[in-house]
Amino acid sequence: MCWDLNGNALYHRRINVDRFLILELVINKMFTVIHKNILVLSTLLILLTIEAVFPYFGGWTSKVKHISQNAAIVIFNAVIINFLFVPLIVLSTNTPFGLFNQIKVSYALEIFLSILILDFVSYFMHVLYHKVPLMWRFHKMHHSDTAMDVTTAARFHIGEHVISLSVRALVYAIFAMKLEFILISESIFLVNVLLQHSNITLTEPIDRIYRIFFTSPNMHKVHHSNKEAETDSNYTSVFSFWDRLFRTYTIVKNPKKIIYGVKGLEKEQSFISMLMTPFKK
Ligand SMILES: [Zn+2]
Repeated sequence: MCWDLNGNALYHRRINVDRFLILELVINKMFTVIHKNILVLSTLLILLTIEAVFPYFGGWTSKVKHISQNAAIVIFNAVIINFLFVPLIVLSTNTPFGLFNQIKVSYALEIFLSILILDFVSYFMHVLYHKVPLMWRFHKMHHSDTAMDVTTAARFHIGEHVISLSVRALVYAIFAMKLEFILISESIFLVNVLLQHSNITLTEPIDRIYRIFFTSPNMHKVHHSNKEAETDSNYTSVFSFWDRLFRTYTIVKNPKKIIYGVKGLEKEQSFISMLMTPFKK
């Protein structure tokens, strides 16, 4: 009997170790930048298709112009970021002096903490983008979109990217974050950010359940309202509890009544006028 119990315990331990090794192998060897990009691009295509068939606001007409303007910004940003920031980000990861290389925690806990820390940083930075006038100058280009859809998720001024990526690189260095954990965190972040900007609805009952844990489309619609009190709420990207914890959570009864954009910037939708947004009042 005694042998049997020991045998059982050993058997279970071996199974756990094997599962753990598989997880480590998948993350270390198989989850790369290419996989992240495939995941993000396929999410984008799925959401674009759903938006075309079941749009929440308006129809598909005039969408081509809107998408191409936002796409121009995305391509412009991607070229600059790839040349200037990818080397900095790679250098700032897994630093020997960083916290995760000083305090040893389990593999699974380190992934979880990395995701949580990066999500809090993005919440905190987002609040600053709204509260610090100089930062708002850059961030308001993202909010000036009057026809928010999935492409708005990537419509950011290059100045905002420069600030955000510099802060993130510092955080990676301080915590000695591993590149593969950053890629996992970014994938979760990007998939949810695409979903919350898309011109669709999960329907209110499903949205209500979803937003208990994560930032939902109906939460983020409020954040893109042209009413300042509503814009200055719902700053989260992945976990919705930061908004509840810091009392920045707002939900409206009927999201259909929301008007997107920034008052006074309704006409600033072309590539050049978007780039010039920070220099406008
Ligand atoms: Zn915002």
